[in-house]
Amino acid sequence: MSTLLQVNHLSKHFPIKKGIFRHTVGHVYAVNDITFHVDKGETLGLVGESGCGKTTTGRCLLQIIKPTSGAILFGEDQTDLATLNNRDLKPFRRRIQMIFQDPNSSLNPRMTVGDIIGEPLKVNKLASGKELEDKIVALLSDVGLQVEDMRRYPHAFSGGQRQRICIARALSLRPDLIIADEPVSALDVSVQAQILNLLSELREQIQLSYLFIAHDLSVVEHISDRVAVMYLGKIVEMGPTKQVYHFPAHPYTEALISAVPVADPRIQRDRKRIALSGDVPDPSSPPSGCPFHPRCKYAEDICKDTMPELKNRKKEGQVACHFSEELSLSGVEYN
Ligand code: SF4
Repeated sequence: MSTLLQVNHLSKHFPIKKGIFRHTVGHVYAVNDITFHVDKGETLGLVGESGCGKTTTGRCLLQIIKPTSGAILFGEDQTDLATLNNRDLKPFRRRIQMIFQDPNSSLNPRMTVGDIIGEPLKVNKLASGKELEDKIVALLSDVGLQVEDMRRYPHAFSGGQRQRICIARALSLRPDLIIADEPVSALDVSVQAQILNLLSELREQIQLSYLFIAHDLSVVEHISDRVAVMYLGKIVEMGPTKQVYHFPAHPYTEALISAVPVADPRIQRDRKRIALSGDVPDPSSPPSGCPFHPRCKYAEDICKDTMPELKNRKKEGQVACHFSEELSLSGVEYN
């Protein structure tokens, strides 16, 4: 598989301003020097607690917010999106689309579903008249909605159906990459599975790639080829999904995985949830050394003053922990 997106050393630091002259008195280190890639046709899950920087990462990729530093190389020519002005970004914005957590806020209640789905095609002058209508009908069918739904308004649909409308709109410009930011976390569990299945099917049909952002590891498990775990603006572990789930190498990943429910009741009964002590530290004054050390039950003296680098594991993937090869961490057991 070839690389579609290569992100190198991406950082986003928000200035904290105070006083009547709005002097900068510090920074919130929302994203701090992260590197990852997404291949063509691949899904990378980006997981972590709220405030870890995963949503900021997604917004930087789309240039909704400008990164502080780093490169965002995209497409066959690996063009650095971080260096482009708004006009030069336009063709790339068509190729990268976003789906948000709350479908209600992304749908204009005064527009019909047909107008919502067709709007990007109209704005970009890609279709009009009968051709536009045919494309809208095809998109409705792609996401499991009916032709007659195009005349209805968003309020007539359930939460899952509204998310299908958002997906159809995102697909209308035939993107290469979809950044899905918690796309199912506002939906009932039964509906979540349907939307995840739909996203998987679409990926197969039209060779899409996804960056799938979620706080819940069980959501990304079935849809992701690889998973990157973020903590306090850093990627602390990254690797093939099965390996990360069954053989985690970072104590934070182990804690997140301990909360993932297992279908087999015999295995579930014997599992122990690891409760992390304390809250996520303030990203404007991250701890010295390993950012996870104040909450890590395996921490030793070196962890307090030396930041572990993200290094290759002996197996596949990478991890940022001084003791990753020595610790014997628990993952999800195989049935
Ligand atoms: Fe825990 Fe130390 Fe590893 Fe950080 S480097 S995760 S504090 S053991």
